[in-house]
Amino acid sequence: MGILENQFEDSVIFARADEVIGWVRENSLWPMTFGLACCAIEMMSTAACKYDLDRFGAGVFRASPRQSDVMIVSGTVTKKMAPRIRLLYDQMPEPKWVIAMGSCAIGGGPYYIHGYHVVKGVDLIVPVDVYVPGCPPRPETLIAGFLELQKKIEETPTLRRPSAA
Ligand code: SF4
Repeated sequence: MGILENQFEDSVIFARADEVIGWVRENSLWPMTFGLACCAIEMMSTAACKYDLDRFGAGVFRASPRQSDVMIVSGTVTKKMAPRIRLLYDQMPEPKWVIAMGSCAIGGGPYYIHGYHVVKGVDLIVPVDVYVPGCPPRPETLIAGFLELQKKIEETPTLRRPSAA
C-alpha cells in the first residue's frame, strides 16, 4: 500500500450499502400530522419540547401524506373514517410504516363490544408495523414504539432480497 497504509483508520468506516441506507432511513422518519381521538393528544405531547421526539430523528410532522413515511394511527377508527385512512396510506410514498397507537387503533378499545360504528383494529385496513398499547399510551410508550420501528427498519434488507438476508 505504500504511503496510503494506515492513513485512514480514524476517519474511514466500511459498511454494506444496505446498512447505511437502513441507518439513514431509521434516523429520518417523517410522521404524518394525523390524529383521530384522545390518543392524538399524547402523540402531540411526544413531539413537543418535554419529550422531544426529534432526538430520535422523527420530530418533523408533515401536513401531507405525500411527504410522510410514518402514519401514527392515534385514536378510534370509525367505519366512516376507515376509507379515508386507507386513502391517506395509499398516498404515502414507499417505503412507509404504520404505528397503531392505543387500544382503539389496536382492537377497538373500549368500543370493542358495543361500538357498532368502530373498526376492531386498524390492521383490518392498513398493514401495521408496531403496536403501542395503552388508553392512552404515554409519550414514553410511543417513543418506545418508535425505537421498535427503528429496529425493524434496521433489520429490513433494502438492496438484498429477504431470502439472501
Ligand atoms: S385508546 Fe383510549 S385514549 Fe386512545 S382514543 Fe381510544 S379511548 Fe381515547
